[in-house]
Amino acid sequence: MSAQRLLRTRCFPRLPAAMLRRYSLDASNPLLRTQGYVNGRWLSAASDFPVVDPATGDEIARVSNCGPAEAKQAVDAAYEAFHSWKRNSAKERSVVLRKWFDLMMLYKEELAQIITYECGKPMSESLGEVAYSASFLEWFSEEARRVYGDFVPSPAKDRKILLLKQPVGVASIITPWNFPSAMISRKAAAALAAGCTVVVKPAEDTPLSALALAELAEKAGVPPGVFNVVPCSRETTPAVGEVLCTDPLVAKISFTGSTATGKVLLKMAADTVKKASMELGGHAPFIVFDSADVDQAVSGAMASKFRNCGQSGIHDGFMDKLGRAMDAELRLGHGSEPGTTQGPLINTRAAEKVVKQIADAVSRGATVLKGGKRLEGSFMEPTLLSDVTTEMICTKEETFGPLLPVIRFNTEEEALAIANASNVGLAGYFFSQDVSQIWRVMEALEVGMVGVNEGLLSTPEAAFGGVKQSGLGVEGSKYGIDEYLEVKYMCFGGLKP
Ligand code: ADP
Repeated sequence: MSAQRLLRTRCFPRLPAAMLRRYSLDASNPLLRTQGYVNGRWLSAASDFPVVDPATGDEIARVSNCGPAEAKQAVDAAYEAFHSWKRNSAKERSVVLRKWFDLMMLYKEELAQIITYECGKPMSESLGEVAYSASFLEWFSEEARRVYGDFVPSPAKDRKILLLKQPVGVASIITPWNFPSAMISRKAAAALAAGCTVVVKPAEDTPLSALALAELAEKAGVPPGVFNVVPCSRETTPAVGEVLCTDPLVAKISFTGSTATGKVLLKMAADTVKKASMELGGHAPFIVFDSADVDQAVSGAMASKFRNCGQSGIHDGFMDKLGRAMDAELRLGHGSEPGTTQGPLINTRAAEKVVKQIADAVSRGATVLKGGKRLEGSFMEPTLLSDVTTEMICTKEETFGPLLPVIRFNTEEEALAIANASNVGLAGYFFSQDVSQIWRVMEALEVGMVGVNEGLLSTPEAAFGGVKQSGLGVEGSKYGIDEYLEVKYMCFGGLKP
């Protein structure tokens, strides 16, 4: 039986829509906060905005809609706090970050529940995100104590040369909804370790995780003004963004999100020449070569979803196994339901975008091997597409949905050409058992991170970052803290040799 026919034999059950209605976020969750957090105080704004459970469409909270005035207040507080926070010893900052980490671990269930309700992830993934998020606090609590400068051999006998690393100042942190906790801690932990203070603007869909982090920061002893959060609605975002990216008291912006928004923020930051870290969009190639271990490649593809390429010889077998794994492993539902592996998309706009990408692919000759339809609300059937070509939008635009478009290729050169044609380069994955090919492809892929026979890469010990229009700078690793430091050259002269 052809892979195609085999795959068509089963489809995903429709969602029990009525069932979704019985979920509600536990109002007694001790980390549920709905006001902004500025200078160590919870702050109401003139209006508020709704946070919605993307699985049910139900409003789960109303959060203070901080505007430019509150953003400015937060920047001022962060600037004030910077002068004392930076004077703490590295050990003192380390102890506070470690305490914050311990508290995140203590409250991991409560934090995960908030992620699941505002972002739609299954609880198992939310718990994974909490552990990942906390790991940055742990890692940078350790790195805080290893910010070494240099003592440089001088060419002149009467001079000594020292290079000192100092914190840059106030950092504005703007983050997306897909990792509502980890994208904040990955930046804030490095910033605070370096001696910087921060103002966080979380994504409008997921402000509750950011506010829960603030609650724990306070409990951990993070002093007022060092970690501030200004949640705001989609409509208020540009005005708040303008303050965070143009105020002269802000030294640095660190952003994770789309390339388009990153460019807007970079332009705003240019006027006052702020430093910038940008983790922008990617479109990870996932290449399965003929020599690959197909089972390993299928598990890798299931671990996350990518723009897939399969080499001709292995293509049909790979598609077959991938389709079976999708049937066997994917269960749609509310994230808090045990057994759910696939929640909703973040909002209906995201679902519409995936539907458009599928329609475009089909109109250009792609075949829907599995799924393909939008379900209730922002749920989408996990979708597997074959006969995909690089003209299709789904191979160019970021997707943020359960869509696996697969392109068939014949040679290594062809696969590399497809992968490298992109103007973004965040991560790239490939599966091969041919050692020489592994070295060739690893070096040739134009991306910031490469997974060889591995689909999950993220860990605080390693550097996360992209090349091309995927961004500037890296997060995590021993290099992550450098994004919040500048090097001061000190020349000590007039010495008598
Ligand atoms: P997506 O909506 O696909 O997640 P975005 O890049 O638009 O991607 O969103 C990432 C973050 O950037 C969110 O917190 C969003 O509110 C924020 N954002 C979007 N536009 C602006 C802007 N003009 N100024 C500041 N932040 C912005």
